[in-house]
Amino acid sequence: MLDLTFDNAFVRDLPGDPDTSAGVRQVEGAVWSAAAPTPVPEPRVLAYSAEMLAHLGLTEADAATPQFADVFSGNALLAGMQPYAANYGGHQFGVWAGQLGDGRAISLGDVVTEAGERWELQLKGAGPTPYSRSADGRAVLRSSIREFLCSEAMHHLGVPTTRALCLIGTGEQVVRDMFYDGRAAPEPGAIVCRVAPSFLRFGSFELPASRGDTGLLRQLVDFCIRRDFPELDGEGEALHAAWFSEICRRSAVMVAHWMRVGFVHGVLNTDNMSILGLTIDYGPYGWIDNFDPGWTPNTTDARRKRYRFGQQPAVAYWNLGRLAGALAPLFGDPAPLQAGLQAYVDAYNAADRDNTVRKLGLAAYRVGDSALMQSLQELLAEAEVDMTLFFRALSDCDPDALDGAMDSAAFIDAFYDADKRVASAAAFRDWMKFYQVRLTADRLDPEQRRRIMRAANPRYVLRNYLAQQAIDRATRGDMDGITELLEVMRRPYEDQPGREPFAARRPDWARDKAGCSMLSCSS
Ligand code: AMP
Ligand code: MG
Repeated sequence: MLDLTFDNAFVRDLPGDPDTSAGVRQVEGAVWSAAAPTPVPEPRVLAYSAEMLAHLGLTEADAATPQFADVFSGNALLAGMQPYAANYGGHQFGVWAGQLGDGRAISLGDVVTEAGERWELQLKGAGPTPYSRSADGRAVLRSSIREFLCSEAMHHLGVPTTRALCLIGTGEQVVRDMFYDGRAAPEPGAIVCRVAPSFLRFGSFELPASRGDTGLLRQLVDFCIRRDFPELDGEGEALHAAWFSEICRRSAVMVAHWMRVGFVHGVLNTDNMSILGLTIDYGPYGWIDNFDPGWTPNTTDARRKRYRFGQQPAVAYWNLGRLAGALAPLFGDPAPLQAGLQAYVDAYNAADRDNTVRKLGLAAYRVGDSALMQSLQELLAEAEVDMTLFFRALSDCDPDALDGAMDSAAFIDAFYDADKRVASAAAFRDWMKFYQVRLTADRLDPEQRRRIMRAANPRYVLRNYLAQQAIDRATRGDMDGITELLEVMRRPYEDQPGREPFAARRPDWARDKAGCSMLSCSS
């Protein structure tokens, strides 16, 4: 028997929708609606996270029981669960989109653990809710595998993120038009149980603000501060100001981590920005192979590239601006909100400098280091060099023998185009000279330098083509690709003998293949 203790403060303390029917509707004056998961025909556990099981006080034996598959597919509820869909709005691609809400995510309740942790359990793909609009409330296997794997991979990379407990196959087909070209086709369905201390988003606050419902806005803000930010002191406006600053700071730290590891979220709408500063809503995300600040995996955004890699720090700032606008009715004077936005800029700049120091293996930041990093990034972009392989090779090379370093196999391997490698050789040699001089100025012990760099420059990231290979295998009924990839991603900073293929740069066949370099929002 699964034994979990629930404390559902969100539905207990905040106003819910008095209408308990299933129909799609506008919900005013409430932050949640009751919503029961729709049963699925054949739930099967396809994968789980051992770490997340342990956090919840569950075992791998628990995950093998029929009850586990039933509960985490939504076919059965445990005592204490109170399923609901959250109400929120959002700015999508720069435009206010009104009410959105959990159209296919159903929260089951908050588990409180013996260690004093609180984890909200949410089923993504559990069927329609009052917020499903014209969609079906379901999710397909391919996108569920991507969310499951990336949530856990990001956690192990040290990036703030929502987590994933398990991936369940539903035994049901879901129809999707994957390329938005009118060729809709059935695909296997799946459900991810995702987990976080809270799934509140910027859009959760924007919606009541957009309706002029300052009472509900204030109630939600005070609830969030009490439950999710107990460390903040003060009261009234000062407390609200400290809270907003903290959200800004956490968002900056999150985005700086993305830039460090080469993650592109793909759909940074304000409904996909967590109030806790966690990476949330894994859709058409992607990982940088060749370093390219202009790259986005999201085909829906291919023309304007609003959410391209290099734009993410600016987009998070813009999103915080929308949140500030929503919170304005709680402030007599906008100065504290402006101070919060400035805190974002300061925190991002500090985190970016820290990335530079750690990725280049410097003892401390000095004037000129950002320019050194920038000139390297320009070279990497121009010469089409793999970001992950390059920084790992740089971590491992002898700081006293940087002269011919670029001729070693590890660096040669990082180039996608042999001609560009030859053409850029002199420029890289010059950069290495500057780098060598800079390293001499600091005199870090070589072993210490290597340790710092290897902890900031992962060997393994969830390359788009690797996830797609796991998806292709799973579609043929072989789930081992998911488990293997998850296993590799549990220790992304360690060399794992025998697992070199998982560190390989994107193969040529994956360059323009759907799922590997291009993803639509269809999921
Ligand atoms: P996303 O692009 O995943 O952030 O989703 C934006 C909005 O569309 C959210 O309100 C989702 O709940 C909703 N949505 C996305 N896919 C579905 C679906 N298959 N069924 C119902 N609602 C959906
Ligand atoms: Mg979303």
